[in-house]
Amino acid sequence: MLSTRLRYISDCLPSGVRLLAVSKGQPVTSIRSLAEIGQCDFGESRLQEASPKLNALQEFKNLRWHFIGRLQSNKVRSVVKSFQFIHSVDSFSLAERISRISGEEKCSPMIMLQVKFREDPTKGGFSPQQLLDEWLKLNTLPNLKLVGLMTMVPINLDCEDRRNVFRDCRALADQLNLPDCSMGMSSDWKEALQCGATWLRVGSALFGDDKNHVISHTDITKSD
Ligand SMILES: *Cc1c(COP(=O)(O)O)cnc(C)c1O
Repeated sequence: MLSTRLRYISDCLPSGVRLLAVSKGQPVTSIRSLAEIGQCDFGESRLQEASPKLNALQEFKNLRWHFIGRLQSNKVRSVVKSFQFIHSVDSFSLAERISRISGEEKCSPMIMLQVKFREDPTKGGFSPQQLLDEWLKLNTLPNLKLVGLMTMVPINLDCEDRRNVFRDCRALADQLNLPDCSMGMSSDWKEALQCGATWLRVGSALFGDDKNHVISHTDITKSD
């Protein structure tokens, strides 16, 4: 059940760590069920899919929407108007554009900068060095709240290597004085939690539509 899985994950979270329910691919009815039992943060990766869902859920005034997908420049205006958080800011030019348009729209989104700690041609993101090089420039941009880093781990890494990536992300965020690390998904949120994540982005393990990642009954009943 959705509520059981939500409770299972929520009960694992120390204070200061929050669950982002990744609702991409999920129907409004499932999002509504979670919203009704207190989940406030939802993540979507495509504007086209997200817009009708946001409209359908307007009655929930306390929901916070997080954009987590690759953000095309022509979608920035719509995204800053509806999403309070953007986790996937992967270049200076995108940050600059979000800054300018946020000024025009009189909003000030929370921003996580996406960082790539391993080569991965399928993913966007700053390299750690690039982020350090551009950090001062990024900080001059108005209308943005730079709150953290976001990272995704390449799927082929083993457990120890995934932890190394998460630790590197936490260390870089600390070096830059950023409170948040958005890291950990259905398959690795527990490791991310151990390594200093503050936002876990969990989809299938929460909504329960991925046979590999669904939290099993034994997982829920054993205390670990
Ligand atoms: C889909 C997605 C997730 C959630 O993935 P699950 O494996 O379903 O938990 C997290 N982060 C991003 C950026 C995603 O696109």
